[in-house]
Parts: sequence; C-alpha cells; structure tokens
Amino acid sequence: MTLEELLASAREALDHITTAGTEENLEQARVKYLGRKGLITQALRSLGSLPVEVRPQFGQEANRLKKLLEQHLEAAQERLKKAALAAEAVAVLDVTLPGRQQDVGRLHPITQITREICDIFIRMGFQVVEGPEVETDYYNFEALNIPKDHPARDMQDTFYISDNIVLRTHTSPMQVRVMEQQQPPVRIIAPGKTFRRDSDLTHTPMFHQVEGLLVDKDISFADLKGVLTLFVHEMFGPAVGLRFRPSFFPFTEPSAEVDIQCVICRGSGCRVCSQTGWLEILGSGMVDPEVFRFVNYDPEVYVGFAFGLGIERIAMLKFGIDDLRLFFDNDLRFLKQF
Ligand SMILES: [Zn+2]
Repeated sequence: MTLEELLASAREALDHITTAGTEENLEQARVKYLGRKGLITQALRSLGSLPVEVRPQFGQEANRLKKLLEQHLEAAQERLKKAALAAEAVAVLDVTLPGRQQDVGRLHPITQITREICDIFIRMGFQVVEGPEVETDYYNFEALNIPKDHPARDMQDTFYISDNIVLRTHTSPMQVRVMEQQQPPVRIIAPGKTFRRDSDLTHTPMFHQVEGLLVDKDISFADLKGVLTLFVHEMFGPAVGLRFRPSFFPFTEPSAEVDIQCVICRGSGCRVCSQTGWLEILGSGMVDPEVFRFVNYDPEVYVGFAFGLGIERIAMLKFGIDDLRLFFDNDLRFLKQF
C-alpha cells in the first residue's frame, strides 16, 4: 500500500464513521478499517514489506491516522448513544397529557387562629414571647402559687418526666419567666403547646393556649375587661356579648371566667352551648400578690392581670367544628377546607 492509498482509505473511513446513522453501521465501519483485518490495521502490519526509506514516514502517518479515526469512532458512539436515549424518551413522553398540578401548602387552622389572636393583642401593644414546653415543677406550679399538695394540682392531670420536670400543663409559666427577666411595665402574650392527660371529643393530650399578662402601675379590673372585650369583638364581631363569671385560679385574685354569647345560636340556646346561650372561652383575673413575691415585684406598687385561652376552642367556634381531634388527624380532606 502506498501513502496515497493509505490516505485515501483513511478519508473513506472518516466519512463512514462520521455519517454512520446507527450503532450497527458504526460497528461495520470499525471492523472494516480498524478491526483485526481492517485496512488501517493491515497497512500497519505490512510496514515490513515496504522499502526501508519510506517506512518511517509511512509508519508515523499510519499511526496518526489510526489514532484520529479511533477518536472519531468514540465521538460517534457517544453521539449515537445520546440519540438513542432521546428517541426512547420521546417514545415514553406523551406531550399531549395534561400537566400535574403542584399542591400549594397552607397554614394549619390552629396556626391561622394563633396568628389571628396574636395580631389582635400585638395591635394593643402586647409582645409575643415563647418558652419551653418541658418545664420544671417550680415554673409550672410552685411560682404560680400552686404548692405541692395544693388541690388545684388535681384539676390538671400532668405528664411527669420526673418528680421535678413536667410537660407544661399551661402556658402560664411564661408569666414568671418574663417577670424574672424584666421590671414592669410588662405586656406579653405567650402562645404555645400544652399537655394534659385528657382525651375525648373536646380534649386531646396536646393542645394550644395563649397566656396573657399585663403588669403596671394603676391597673384595675376595668382594664382587664376592656382588653378582653376588645379581643372578643375583634375575634367574633362587635355584636357578640360577653360576661364575666367569678371563678378560682391559684395565681389570680379575684378570678373570672369569660363567656361569650353562643356564636352558633346567637344566645337562643343550642346543642353546642348546652341550651344556655353562652360559651366559656377563657379564664382571667388580677395577678395574685403572692405571685409577685416570687419574682420580687413590689405588690404595693404594681398591679396586673392575666388571662389564658384555649386556641382549639376558639378555632372550633370560629370554624364551626364539633370534634377537636380532627385538628390532629392530619387528614387533608379536613385541612384543605381552611
Ligand atoms: Zn348555642
């Protein structure tokens, strides 16, 4: 084979390789030129039979062409593999199918109501604070004027982690934690999870409360009534009546439960309000001076009031839900309604 013939073969090979439309064509080209009996391979083998003076140039050229063709072969293999994959994708991809809708998430109804409650109090100048859900006996009971063996502890079925550590039964410990940290005036609300050993239609072992506390000079029960009345009217509308009923809490004196006119029957009596026309929604009272002593506030100078409400209770009334447990079943058919 002459150098000219070698170059002609190489050109031909290059042409076959770069135009091969299938992997089969490409393989044929490889065998024909670069295989064991291929033209280029043969040319290299026949080197010995060539005149000595042309051997070096011929050998060099043959090797260069072999390498070049191998590179093009590899590139062509890559190209054909990609084309095959793309063809496969086209075969399984039906562009006429309707698209899949992306679900947009939303806030849980309890979160929505918590934020709504917080917003109302923020507008009245309250600050939102949060604290630990696992609490010491001291903050959960003792410092709120509920000593060990106090009968009030029986009202709250408590989860004990150890003798001294509990899952907080209310968000009231935040009153003490905040007062320890700052001097009056104090104006806070503390939303969060609370825990009690209860489970039925209207109780779950985990539920949510918002605690409120205001301490300043010259505060009276009238301020308490004003703040809570405004809250109820913002939450349920200005036409809803409310009443304060005397009650007992160890950390307030005097204490009052707040009822609102039934939002279902507007006061005429129904199943939800047990025919009374009233619904209990929160507990409140003037801070007991004993509680101030735990945090070194002077009860002769400062007065305050506190209140606590159940967020689930508000959400049930607001949305007309009669089974509390629905909130925590995580059933999308339920959750998507809010
Ligand atoms: Zn009613």
